[in-house]
Amino acid sequence: MRLVLFFLLLLFPLDVLGQSLEFSLHRLQGTRPGPTLLVIGGIQGNEPGGFNAAALLATRYRIESGNLWVVPNLNFPSIIKRSRGLHGDMNRKFAKLPESDPEYPQVARIKALITDPQVDLVFNLHDGSGFYHPEYVDPLRNPDRWGQSCIIDQKILNTTAFGDLEKLSRRTVAQVNAKTLEPGHRFRLKNTRTRWDDPEMRKSLTYFAITRNKPAFGIEASKSFPTHIRTYYHLLALEAYMQQAGVDYARDFPLTPSGVNDAISKDVLIAFEDGRIQLRLDDLRPTLGYFPLKKSSQLQIRSNSPLVALVPYRNRYRIHYGNNRLTFIKPQFFDYDDSSDGLEMLIDGQPQRLRFGSMVTVDNEFLVRKEKGYRVNVIGFTRKGKRDESGLKIRAGQLAERFSIDKGGKIYRVEVYRQNRFSGMVLVDFRAQPKGRLPLTLAAAASPDVGRSDN
Ligand SMILES: [Zn+2]
Repeated sequence: MRLVLFFLLLLFPLDVLGQSLEFSLHRLQGTRPGPTLLVIGGIQGNEPGGFNAAALLATRYRIESGNLWVVPNLNFPSIIKRSRGLHGDMNRKFAKLPESDPEYPQVARIKALITDPQVDLVFNLHDGSGFYHPEYVDPLRNPDRWGQSCIIDQKILNTTAFGDLEKLSRRTVAQVNAKTLEPGHRFRLKNTRTRWDDPEMRKSLTYFAITRNKPAFGIEASKSFPTHIRTYYHLLALEAYMQQAGVDYARDFPLTPSGVNDAISKDVLIAFEDGRIQLRLDDLRPTLGYFPLKKSSQLQIRSNSPLVALVPYRNRYRIHYGNNRLTFIKPQFFDYDDSSDGLEMLIDGQPQRLRFGSMVTVDNEFLVRKEKGYRVNVIGFTRKGKRDESGLKIRAGQLAERFSIDKGGKIYRVEVYRQNRFSGMVLVDFRAQPKGRLPLTLAAAASPDVGRSDN
């Protein structure tokens, strides 16, 4: 599995959460020509099925023909705050919006993308309540519900190649319904007849697209499901639309509920500064103390997910991932030393060179080889009278569990310093690994493949 780390430069004016959380655009280009799809997630911050689907599209798919443009985090500040909209509902801001609206710049920027001459089809991803049903069945299944549906504003858009919105969506619905996990999860087509019947929806993103002659579709997964099931249905629907549009793709995880769950929850990394520290986001402790961050006015992080942010809270930082509030980081600020990019270790007796930012699996014991001029600090290990912990065989049982970075008490920090400067960190992982499985190496990332900025 290839995990691409991309650059994410976040500048936080302290106390003003969110204003600098710009949305990202990821352009996936096929080697063969074809149409360009624009997929938008996170217009409302509390609909994680949609924005996780878009994030996986942006990071775990490869496009072979045509193009996929993905904005996975349109309303990033609201995503971080788990709010439908910190400044009202962004999906009602596409008809008229005063320039004084705090979201005016984002709305203008996404409008420019929607109307980009290259864009052929537009998708807006939502998590909707209950289950849309054309007749009233019960309080959860009726015409006023939105979940499990493809939404169109009208049947036909006369002027384009993909203008038969109804036909494309009926086929998508049928394709999704061949893979529903239970009969009650069936998708349905919902036509809001916006132009005639729905003044409220005339303020929406898809209707804006329609009025600019761009075929546009809403996809709604049901809020009755956990996030990974919503994401599963979003991806099923998007793949069906891609197939009909002639966009060929590949993905690096199985499109099953557990495959999607793993992709969302297990494979996400955060790298600090130049990659000398990298963490996996699963199972982190609520607080990581004495965390060696670089003395500088701005903090740089990278992640392989566009939904990760580092947000300041007074004298701490918190890692956010979509709607999830993860670990607090209590920083200790250092100048950084870049005279070395790694260290030599003995892992269960075997010599191994490890780059800073990597994690290594240990069965029984490890030892960091002594190197002149450098000092090693294994967090959670103490030996009286020793400041430098290189040259010592260290077993899991000698480490104080409360210093592990994971809740399970199995992963520990090995930090290297040169005089008073921080050189880098390696993680030792005492979790038993299935044999033959390569450890996920968080190797210091090379140049980024995907830019956060759009153009
Ligand atoms: Zn929504």
